[in-house]
Amino acid sequence: MKIHEIIKRKGKSVSCEFFPPKDQAGEDKLLVVIKQLEALGPDFVSVTYGAGGGTRKNTMSLIKRITEATALTPMPHLTCIDQSKKELKSILDNYRLLSVDNVLALRGDPPRGQIEFVAPKDGFCYAKDLVDLAATFNSFSIGVACYPEGHIEAPNRETDLLYTKQKIDAGAHFAITQMFFENRFYYDFLERAGKIGISVPIIPGIMPVTDMKKTGQFCEKCGATIPASLAARMESASPEDCRRIGREFAIEQCADLIKQGVRYFHFYSMNQAEAVTEIFQSLSLHTL
Ligand code: FAD
Repeated sequence: MKIHEIIKRKGKSVSCEFFPPKDQAGEDKLLVVIKQLEALGPDFVSVTYGAGGGTRKNTMSLIKRITEATALTPMPHLTCIDQSKKELKSILDNYRLLSVDNVLALRGDPPRGQIEFVAPKDGFCYAKDLVDLAATFNSFSIGVACYPEGHIEAPNRETDLLYTKQKIDAGAHFAITQMFFENRFYYDFLERAGKIGISVPIIPGIMPVTDMKKTGQFCEKCGATIPASLAARMESASPEDCRRIGREFAIEQCADLIKQGVRYFHFYSMNQAEAVTEIFQSLSLHTL
């Protein structure tokens, strides 16, 4: 099913993101987690592609397993990294053959060991070019990334937002935000996006923190702000307390979003069911 049609019909969406494990055994384990989360009734699930410099080759395999083993609506992420236009078209062709209706079109993180993005030979420089390509298929619901605090390479938030609009004007049906921990960034982003005529759903990306050190490193790379209050709560916490505080924080964050009328949620699950399940249940997200 096409995600933008689900959103239009239901007026809401709750989704979870996974990264593809390195091997078959890891994939088997993750399938158990995905089935646990399926019981909560998410509207779609997404699978990353080389995120953080990780493996790209297993995304399609996991998407295939999800379509075979569950009734979930899957969305593969796809990036422009190290691939020609021809290769990207072939991947999209394969997804179409698998009856996959959705794709998240991204420029991508540079591969591990490479600091800056390098445009591939015969490939694309920006996510917008991949949106253009996916739109020619006339069969995908296309999502794109957006950045309430601005993309780390962008000169400023306003310029970055204009590029986000270009992706939407090229045919993207919805956007998912980079993680943020202070809702004011998201509310401000919605306001600025509305002012320049962006009217597609902007789904907030929520990260229930399970490991403060890793989250801190990631936030440093992507430019997301960790509130001092959260960092202070985590400072001398045990790993178990850290996970509990992360879940509590995400619940408070989502409760505030719900209070402000937000009906979309995308959870960075880190391939674990526990935190997302607790958030779903404590906020009754299935009844949104
Ligand atoms: P773009 O929209 O192309 O933007 C990249 C930069 O170029 C920005 O600074 C933008 O302002 C600038 N820009 C855009 N258009 C132009 C233009 N015409 N001229 C000049 N500058 C321009 N990464 C992965 O590798 N794999 C994943 O699976 C993955 N999943 C993600 C999921 C979500 C929800 C999010 C928010 C991010 C994800 N990322 C993933 C990270 C993403 O790939 C990086 O943030 C990447 O650096 C930018 O990707 P983009 O699609 O936003 O790029």
